Amino acid sequence: MRAFVLTGPGESSVIDVEPPVAGPGEVIVDIARVGVCGTDMELAAGTMSYLHDDLAHYPVRPGHEWCGTVSAIGDGVDPAWLGRRTTGDTQIGCGRCHRCLTGRQHVCDDRHEIGLRRGFDGALAEQMSVPARALLALPDEVDDMSGAMVEPGGNALRAVRAASLDEGERLLVIGPGTIGLLAAQLAAAQGCEVHVLGVTPASLEFAGATVGVAGAWTQHDLPDLRWDGVIDASNDPTSPTRAAGLVDAGRRLVLIGLSETPSLLDSRALVMRDVTAVGVLSGSPGLVGAIGHFASAAVDPRPLVAATLTLDDVGDVLAGNRPASAGPGPKIHIDPRLRAPTPVTTQERTSP
Ligand SMILES: [Zn+2]
Ligand SMILES: [Zn+2]
Repeated sequence: MRAFVLTGPGESSVIDVEPPVAGPGEVIVDIARVGVCGTDMELAAGTMSYLHDDLAHYPVRPGHEWCGTVSAIGDGVDPAWLGRRTTGDTQIGCGRCHRCLTGRQHVCDDRHEIGLRRGFDGALAEQMSVPARALLALPDEVDDMSGAMVEPGGNALRAVRAASLDEGERLLVIGPGTIGLLAAQLAAAQGCEVHVLGVTPASLEFAGATVGVAGAWTQHDLPDLRWDGVIDASNDPTSPTRAAGLVDAGRRLVLIGLSETPSLLDSRALVMRDVTAVGVLSGSPGLVGAIGHFASAAVDPRPLVAATLTLDDVGDVLAGNRPASAGPGPKIHIDPRLRAPTPVTTQERTSP
């Protein structure tokens, strides 16, 4: 089967590999859709922290935002999974430590992460092997495009929950990328007034026109409003400090963005204004909820997808390019079953 691999910083190829075989407790998924995310771009560039912490080594097969159909099962797996459409958890805990046994397997020290950590082959291939315990069935109402948005949707949902807002309250989302815009959609669906803060005019226009936020601003024209919650989904190292100053006293600052350099935050900004800061690492505890929001049509993530491309296009996408035909949304999807490469990849990526 065909698989995309990163062989070094800035180096990649699509190669033929042996198809995976389902071991005990595992299933084989025929991949229908994979989202390419900022973390994959860091892996490709060689800047991702796992590469420097001995938790990831080239060659890497990325891909952790996926959906597909179970085509084979190993010993001990419920046969009901065969033929079922599914997505799954990226985080695969050891299943034995205190965190795993108390519902926090997503932060297990010994965890694998699909396509990211400890050599677990990801979804940028025609097939992938996954432990059955990581699977989540997709209802018919969630199509393939939405199915591959469940993982970022789970992250966004956890960020919205962490902001702890009531209906009618006002949320500021910093960083109108995929996670930020999904958080904006989810918060709006629960009755919040949502604004976004970004940098590029194109991303702000998209947030206003397509996602329908109440306001889309830059730091130069942000109005002086009371922000009942702030979610920082940006990669700007100066953003957490700004966000801590913006959120109303006694409320919550949610940090889900990652910068390449340390973002220093003066704890007095939290203590003196009684602000609670919450970090969110993964979508795991939010995946079921994200599927529910997509299935009920409370949130439609599909407008965020700019294009669906082939495995042969992944290298270009990871280098920051996108085809001229791509829409304005922040997310690029790959369908490993497509063969013809997408013509001319020229236009520079503009969304943050
Ligand atoms: Zn991702
Ligand atoms: Zn564990």
